[in-house]
Amino acid sequence: MVHSSGLRTRDQAAVALGSKWVELATADEDAGNRYLIADATDTEPGSFADRALLRQNPLGVIEGIVVAARVLGVREAFLAIRRSFETEYGIVTRSLAEAETAGWLDRVSIKCIRTSDDYLVGEPSALLATIEGVEALPLPRDPAINGLFAGDETASRNPTTVESIETLVNVAAVVLNGSAWLRGMGTPVSPGNLLCTITGDVNRHGVVEMELGRRLVDAIEEGGCGFLPASPPKAVLSGVSSPVLTRSRLAAPMSWEGLAAVGANLGRAAFRVYGESSDMFAVAHEIAGYLYVESCGLCPACKFGSGEVTAYLARLVAGVGSRRDLEALGGRLATVTDSAQCALPTRLREVVSSIMWAFPGDAAATVDRTPGTVPSVLEPLVDIVDGRAVYGDRQSRKRADGVVQDQPVRLTRW
Ligand code: SF4
Repeated sequence: MVHSSGLRTRDQAAVALGSKWVELATADEDAGNRYLIADATDTEPGSFADRALLRQNPLGVIEGIVVAARVLGVREAFLAIRRSFETEYGIVTRSLAEAETAGWLDRVSIKCIRTSDDYLVGEPSALLATIEGVEALPLPRDPAINGLFAGDETASRNPTTVESIETLVNVAAVVLNGSAWLRGMGTPVSPGNLLCTITGDVNRHGVVEMELGRRLVDAIEEGGCGFLPASPPKAVLSGVSSPVLTRSRLAAPMSWEGLAAVGANLGRAAFRVYGESSDMFAVAHEIAGYLYVESCGLCPACKFGSGEVTAYLARLVAGVGSRRDLEALGGRLATVTDSAQCALPTRLREVVSSIMWAFPGDAAATVDRTPGTVPSVLEPLVDIVDGRAVYGDRQSRKRADGVVQDQPVRLTRW
């Protein structure tokens, strides 16, 4: 049923869930234990979808885990939320107790795991490492082949699947309503609805459920209760690892295939809207700086490369850069992925390059600007209250080695 519904995973990969699960669902006993990890870490800095789901429908999330566990023959599942999600942790703890009392957990145990607040903890291999109690690094690891606790005491591979809680809520709905129900919404390639977080230059920030396949500009305008100012914006980003969407591309369908056709992707559908007066070069600096600090430092080429890209952007944004800095930036972007062990520097290159290509005027203006601007820092969303996004100050205090200090950090000299 999951296969015929065409359900795609609600994560960066957006793969067909039925195909992804075939191997796990048909694994023989020699493969060892099967595990399910429900990812509610909301690691995309502009996303609030996981927290909105946990706040509004915690029992729906637990139901999704229970149903998926039944489908896959899993007896032990984990629900991963970030350490800073205090409100959601309380909600989950109470809801798990209710589910236990109601007998939902008779055939599957669900353990709530608190992860670090780092961006990379959302990578599947880092989630597995967190649960195993070792350092959470984004190393190449296929959980279906080298799963949780694989090889600890036996040679078992313990096939494991990591799914977002939004995916699992959809699984329960498909099992309840049938595959035709999901196929009745969205497009043939992207059936169903999607949770979108909308922030930036719109009248109202929030998380809204939208049908896939609609024109992106209409979905964002409706979900955000109108643009500020009242015209299609200069640009939209769907996440820190997705190429920028310019105004001319906003008519594309909000679907995985629709955005791929215009050279972008849906990411976690964390849409940040940039109005006409936005300095997109400063936005590129914010994103590069964020990914630089959040990189794990395992591969020097990534850490140094991301740092140099951030430094060039900072000089230009601050008005002390030159045309040579601009050229050097282009050259450094070309090599930033050398020897990288994960996709993070590729994401950095894609988003920064896309902004430079899409807004050459903003790039050129940086070499003539008056010195004085202090480059800003991208702070992740910590809450949405009364239709307005709330941001913390943790990222401003986080050093490139991951240590969070009391005072703001000056990442680069310019
Ligand atoms: S590419 Fe960057 S983030 Fe990925 S493992 Fe290497 S240093 Fe860490």
